[in-house]
Amino acid sequence: MDCKETRHWLVAHLDGELDLVHDAEVSAHLQTCAGCAEAARQQSALRALVREKLPSFAPPPYLATRIRAQLREEKTSARPCSSWWPAWNLAGVLAGFCLVALVGFEWGGQRARTAQFGDEIVSSHLRAVLSDHLLDVVSSDRHTVKPWLSGKLDFSPPVADLAADGYPLLGARVERLEGQTTAALVYQKRKHFITVFIWPATTALPFADAHRVGYEMRAWRQADMNFIAVSDVAASDLDDFIVRLRAAVAQ
Ligand SMILES: [Zn+2]
Repeated sequence: MDCKETRHWLVAHLDGELDLVHDAEVSAHLQTCAGCAEAARQQSALRALVREKLPSFAPPPYLATRIRAQLREEKTSARPCSSWWPAWNLAGVLAGFCLVALVGFEWGGQRARTAQFGDEIVSSHLRAVLSDHLLDVVSSDRHTVKPWLSGKLDFSPPVADLAADGYPLLGARVERLEGQTTAALVYQKRKHFITVFIWPATTALPFADAHRVGYEMRAWRQADMNFIAVSDVAASDLDDFIVRLRAAVAQ
């Protein structure tokens, strides 16, 4: 990891929000680079200062009491109907606040799930490439790979060999992603690997495309299956691979 990437991930690193791989890379860089270590120190100092100096706001305790009193007053008074409107108005404003908070919460949750899914895909690909567990079945023959996968899974993923297109199939393994059992097909492009995760399209895809430092991901739905491809090949190579894979699956 170079200085530019380290600076990009620095805040997430200090927040403890990075996945293990990136976190270790940032830590390693900070150990060897005085400039980035100083930037990290300044960032930490700034955050401590902000935490210490900025006021934080909690709703004052009398607010709930005051709202209840006002509602009670409106209820017991024998004033015309029009006098109800301030209470309704207040209720509306409060409902609005709740809705904004809920939508924000839901949106934040969705964003976190999407980020987590992306991290898991890259981690799974990386773990397999770095360990000697890239493939459970080693074969470029889809007539070997497909029945092997069908025997391990409760679905039958489409298996295409793209050797003629410059992406030979190396084999496959079975992988768990977000609690879902998937078929992981592994293709090669020169010295790089492309993993394609396939599972039935019963769950929503987390994103259409995403990237982490050095890795590109693409997701799509085809033939009632979800597909996510991940690789460290150039984005243009990955897109070319997917065009060819989609054409082969459509046949
Ligand atoms: Zn640096």
